[in-house]
Amino acid sequence: MRLAAERRQPAGGSSYAPNAAFTRRLGVIAAAATFLMLLAMTIGTALGAKAVLNSQSEQRFADVVSGVSNSVRADLDRSFTEIAALEAFIRTESELTNDRFQLFASSISQRTTGSEALGFAPRVSSEDLAEFTERMKIQGVDIGTFSVTSPFADRFPVAYMFPPVEGLIEPGGNVVSDPRFGTVVQDSLRNRSPVASGPITIRTNPSGQSWFFVFQAVFGDPEPGKHPSEGPLMGYAFSIYRAADFLAASLDRNGLSGVPLRVFDEAPGRTATLIFPDLEPDANDSLASGWVQTSVEFAGRGWNLQFETPDQFGLSALERNVWIIILSAGLGLTVFASISMFSLLKARIAAHSDLDLITSQIRVIVGSAIEGIVVLDADNRLLIANSSFAEAFGMPDPDLLTHKDWSAVRESAAVAITDRDRFFETLGRLSNSPEAVIASADIRITAPTARTLSMSSSPVSDAAGEYLGRLFVFRDVTVERSVEEAKTDFVSMVSHELRTPLTSIVGYVDVLLEGAGGELSAESQKLLQVVRRNGNRLARLVADILDLSRIDNARFDLEPSLIDIPPLISELADAISADYKSKGQIVKLEIADDMPPAYVDRIRIGQVFTNLLSNAHRYTPAGGTITVEASSDGSNLNVSVRDTGVGISAEEQQKVFERFARINRKGARPTGSTGLGLAITKALVELHGGTISVTSSPGTGSEFAVAIPHSTQVKNAA
Ligand code: ADP
Repeated sequence: MRLAAERRQPAGGSSYAPNAAFTRRLGVIAAAATFLMLLAMTIGTALGAKAVLNSQSEQRFADVVSGVSNSVRADLDRSFTEIAALEAFIRTESELTNDRFQLFASSISQRTTGSEALGFAPRVSSEDLAEFTERMKIQGVDIGTFSVTSPFADRFPVAYMFPPVEGLIEPGGNVVSDPRFGTVVQDSLRNRSPVASGPITIRTNPSGQSWFFVFQAVFGDPEPGKHPSEGPLMGYAFSIYRAADFLAASLDRNGLSGVPLRVFDEAPGRTATLIFPDLEPDANDSLASGWVQTSVEFAGRGWNLQFETPDQFGLSALERNVWIIILSAGLGLTVFASISMFSLLKARIAAHSDLDLITSQIRVIVGSAIEGIVVLDADNRLLIANSSFAEAFGMPDPDLLTHKDWSAVRESAAVAITDRDRFFETLGRLSNSPEAVIASADIRITAPTARTLSMSSSPVSDAAGEYLGRLFVFRDVTVERSVEEAKTDFVSMVSHELRTPLTSIVGYVDVLLEGAGGELSAESQKLLQVVRRNGNRLARLVADILDLSRIDNARFDLEPSLIDIPPLISELADAISADYKSKGQIVKLEIADDMPPAYVDRIRIGQVFTNLLSNAHRYTPAGGTITVEASSDGSNLNVSVRDTGVGISAEEQQKVFERFARINRKGARPTGSTGLGLAITKALVELHGGTISVTSSPGTGSEFAVAIPHSTQVKNAA
């Protein structure tokens, strides 16, 4: 991989820094937009609330006004009871006296507020007039001259009233001859029911207000055998009212006093007359805009009441001011929200530019790295790739790879890779397993330039442990690997070169010891045995080193076949039984009957068991027992070698599988000890896809347990 010196400026500035001026102004624009939007909403809501309340107020007023007509009507009805009382009085009093009437009238007027005065008019025939006049005089009423001009000329209705209303009717006057009463009297006679008059003027009326009266013809009982409607006329009862008084009480009760009001008197076939506030015969009765009207009908007449709708009628202080409250609260909120929006965006923009800065710094650092670096996000899209990576895999500008899918990126590698498919499969597997860590895996690139990369990969997680993505680092180890290879080649060459002469040395010593060179003295024999022992030890060491160097170089090819394990174990145990016997050790084989064959390299698995058996023999004192157990759990072949030997401390157990493991024990190392046996054993077991473990307690013994899959996928060198 090339050095970072000529690396160009990491790109990405354009994609991480949008139009800066716009970004800066964004806070102001957003705040202004928020302000205008909320302001419009506030004003809209306030005006809306005002409109709703106004229409509610109008509705309430209309309801009250329609209630007023009922109220006025009820007052009128109540007042008509005075007429009924007067009627009863006329019918029951056989002889009318002034005192009796005054007493009666004052008692009635105390009970009601409606009428200003009650009157009666007994019918007096023209012949009786002199006598009636005399009687009235005695009662203190001067009826004066009585002119007979009415259609009822032979019987006069002569008025009397209490309390007197000046200017309305003269006591003793002929009510029928008064043009203001004539029609009413006739209607009442015809209908035999109370009849109301239209507005009437009173000479002394101080305020120009209108008056009206209700008139009732009173009939006595009919002669026996005649229809009730044929009872004789006994007189008239009448009650006089001031229109304004009626209205005042009702308006007061309904909370409308002070509200502008016009009342028109209407009767069929007559033009309406304004009776309130002033008597203006020509007043226009059409309804002005903003006014509401209601009608009251009574005793053959109708009143049209017109009210001007007051502003905010019937609204509480809170309701009247609710739009101001909404407006002020809304304005406050608008200002607050706009300021908050502004500062929030300002903070975000500042954070964003900080992030831009950090991001570009990271890009500079990653871009300068000699190692090829790739960072993926949690969705396996490429976040960052540097040019060392792009160059190593023959890819274009690393910035063009950003945001692309990792599978597409790796497929675009334009270099020849040994075992390309397997390599890509590994990369894919890593992306799908967030936990996976690869400390080091070599990738060989063969063209255009041969080089070896060491790949490491680990997940990237945040402080809370959430998976954010994956980091890949590709380091160029071409030089390191070729040095290692040269070293291994050297070791293997040296070991090879040592093995040949050693074999011949040991062989010739054997031959000499067998006496092929003549009789040997006891001393010579002793010396030659030392030579043979050390020669054997050296041969074993050389064999172990050769094995290890092959394992390291992945040049160790297994030749697996289906092997029956029980006979193999017996055979191996037999092979070293002489050694056991020489130390008086007992060997027990506990081998299950139904063990299926295993797919293993016979020689290498034999080497594994031989190592374990020989260690057990060497590290178990004379007379000890060595037990070999073999069984199958269906998927694994389980073999354990247990001894009653010196044992291994817990601390040392960690180290026994390391190369040149030396365990400090009193006394010399046993013959044949190289410290490589268990390291090779472990490597061989793992090449078969299996595991090895140790359990031991010092002074009691050790147990080495091997588990190898029956259908092992043997890991042969590439
Ligand atoms: P060596 O050639 O020295 O035996 P190994 O790799 O086979 O080397 O074993 C490493 C060390 O583990 C030995 O030196 C020995 O101290 C210890 N060891 C191995 N097997 C046993 C055992 N069965 N009992 C006690 N110690 C053992």
